[in-house]
Amino acid sequence: MVIWTIANQKGGVGKTTTVISLAGLLAERNFRVLLIDTDPHASLTSYFQYDSDQLPVSLYDLFAEPAKVKSEIEQVILPTEIPNISLIPASMALATLDRVLGEKEGMGLFLKKQLTLLEDDYDFVLIDCPPVLGVMMVNAIAACEKILIPVQTEFLASKGLDRMISTLSVMKKSAGVSFKYCIIPTLYDKRTRASINTLLLIKERYQEKVWNGVIPVDTKFRDASLQHVPISIYAKRCRGVFAYETLLNYLLQAEFY
Ligand code: ADP
Ligand code: MG
Repeated sequence: MVIWTIANQKGGVGKTTTVISLAGLLAERNFRVLLIDTDPHASLTSYFQYDSDQLPVSLYDLFAEPAKVKSEIEQVILPTEIPNISLIPASMALATLDRVLGEKEGMGLFLKKQLTLLEDDYDFVLIDCPPVLGVMMVNAIAACEKILIPVQTEFLASKGLDRMISTLSVMKKSAGVSFKYCIIPTLYDKRTRASINTLLLIKERYQEKVWNGVIPVDTKFRDASLQHVPISIYAKRCRGVFAYETLLNYLLQAEFY
């Protein structure tokens, strides 16, 4: 079972879109995919038409109300309409998790330990992060072997990126774990100076950590989200799909640092 976490402390950079697009392509290749929504805004959860306010249980309960789900991660997994894709949904309550758990020891590795129980059930786990550094992001980062960092190719994007990278290095020092990450330029519009310049800047600063391709702006992403399906199901042959296909092929074979 391969676990990837998609994180950036900035919102609107394409994290959730990356999770759904990669999941669609992996599912199409017959891999069994589990998606985990750790963002209290629950965009991933609502993408699959679940109303996070109405769900009897969610990821929150696994962390904060273990009795309610008999402490079993299986209890919080939902099917989706897409073959091969399952979902652990988020709820608003996740926003209170840091306060609820307080200083409870050892919670940083909670998700990682839970996921070992699903080792034989899934080929890929993709974890969608909130744009906030808290117990959920720490868990998501500690659980995975690769971190994908989508970065919008816009002015000031590199500021958020610097913050994310320094968060990773702080975690690395405190946890003594090595994190492999890949920066993914997103929302690229080759007609704008902002996109071109930002991409150059990011590549100059982060060099081999930056994926060599880009995810272009494509209106099909929004259309697909209105249909609640991954873009590859909505529009098989559009540039958004080609870009994520190229990215997936890279991720499957690349050695990360
Ligand atoms: P995040 O999860 O980082 O907050 P999202 O994936 O939700 O970001 O993307 C924010 C918005 O931008 C969404 O409305 C999404 O449909 C749109 N979007 C994301 N990537 C693209 C893209 N490559 N082209 C066009 N729109 C995109
Ligand atoms: Mg999101």
